[in-house]
Amino acid sequence: MASQPDVMDKLVSLCKRRGFIFQSSEIYGGTGSVWDYGPLGVELKKNIKDRWWNAMVRSRDDIEGLDAAILMHPRTWEASGHVAGFVDPLVDCKTCKGRFRADKLEDARCPQKPSKQPGQHDACQLTEARNFNLMFKTYMGALEESASVVYLRPETAQGIFVNFLNVQQSMRQKVPFGIAQIGKAFRNEITPGNFIFRTREFEQMEMQFFVEPGTDMEWFEQWKQLRMEWHLALGLSPERLQFHQHGAGELAHYARAAFDVTFDFGGTLGFQEIEGVHNRGDFDLTQHQQFSSKKLEYYDQLNNKRYVPYVIETSVGADRVTLAALVNAYREESVEGEDEGRVVLGLHPSIAPIKAAIFPLTKKDGQPEMAKNIMNDLRMSFPMDYDESGSIGKRYRRQDEVGTPFCITVDGQSTTDQTVTVRDRDTLAQDRVDVSQLKGYLAAKLLG
Ligand code: ATP
Repeated sequence: MASQPDVMDKLVSLCKRRGFIFQSSEIYGGTGSVWDYGPLGVELKKNIKDRWWNAMVRSRDDIEGLDAAILMHPRTWEASGHVAGFVDPLVDCKTCKGRFRADKLEDARCPQKPSKQPGQHDACQLTEARNFNLMFKTYMGALEESASVVYLRPETAQGIFVNFLNVQQSMRQKVPFGIAQIGKAFRNEITPGNFIFRTREFEQMEMQFFVEPGTDMEWFEQWKQLRMEWHLALGLSPERLQFHQHGAGELAHYARAAFDVTFDFGGTLGFQEIEGVHNRGDFDLTQHQQFSSKKLEYYDQLNNKRYVPYVIETSVGADRVTLAALVNAYREESVEGEDEGRVVLGLHPSIAPIKAAIFPLTKKDGQPEMAKNIMNDLRMSFPMDYDESGSIGKRYRRQDEVGTPFCITVDGQSTTDQTVTVRDRDTLAQDRVDVSQLKGYLAAKLLG
């Protein structure tokens, strides 16, 4: 049963109309499940990535940042198990030529009318399931031969594992410590869809935390809680967030324990994974030791012992969290004393693409000049937007729809007493603020 309304279609249209997200190569008819972030979308996603980076890297002594390459030595993917095992079960329909994930048939739709699950029409002829590897292959160098095959990474984690000792030794870190990175990953998903929820090119924010064996479950619990707190601090509603524990049958080949953070996207999509927290044991480092013949042990000087650390991983999709933030923020409401309702993106101010918009009430009496001066003074501290077209009501609506927390208006009084009004997106309350105090006023509200 759907617990939250389905706002996906409305969001897709708002995102296109207001410059958040466009279909990739739209003028050529689009590319299947690949999306481009427009001017406001790139700011929103960047703000989310910055919050993650600040929480994971900047604010901690025990986590280091990394930016590993997308293309890696092909042996990496043999060691990680991806060449042999990164597969989804695929079924074809001989009638409609559709391809579906055998384990997700309930989420798929047969192209025949009326819309049903694949296999449910009399005419459906589904084949036996067979394994389909999700990695994109390409060739390195001038020869397209099997010896030069490389893969577009399907996760960022392996770039961290192969650099474990480089980072530990260059930064003189002691276990327990972590390595974090943000980067693109690629999966040739059989059934992508639901806007930016499941795409073939996406961005991951992953952190691998290396710990002494035996302390792993304690750290696992700690990271589970910390990651849930991060999503809450992003403004996602507590009733939309839940943990989902992986049962024995669901656990990946490398995992000793796994929890997903799930978010309620509403409608039939409902609760879905946005982040995975995994106890990977020593699987990855041991595999890379074997395949590379290089030791990946940690030497604990204090206790004079050597061991291969266990790894607690937190893995979250930047695009999926962006979608969760948008779904969570979207609301339609009536406004007292006005006929027209408003659409609001109630985004947490720290991730809103525009922090404040500034409007001259009229296009004369020096108001535009004063508004532009104020904007120029503030824009290096806060992304700003200037708008002088249409009624003030219309200008407010435009900003509400993209989640701008504050609208500043320069009016007749402003040019005489150097004050402006500041309207709050959510409470609609208006404060009269001295221009000289504006930066501090906004900073207190936006960063507080
Ligand atoms: P699913 O079961 O949804 O395919 P997964 O369990 O394979 O996901 P992980 O490998 O744990 O996902 O990836 C970690 C995170 O990366 C996910 O929680 C999600 O936020 C993101 N992610 C994974 N695949 C995609 C995708 N195709 N598009 C967008 N984000 C993705």
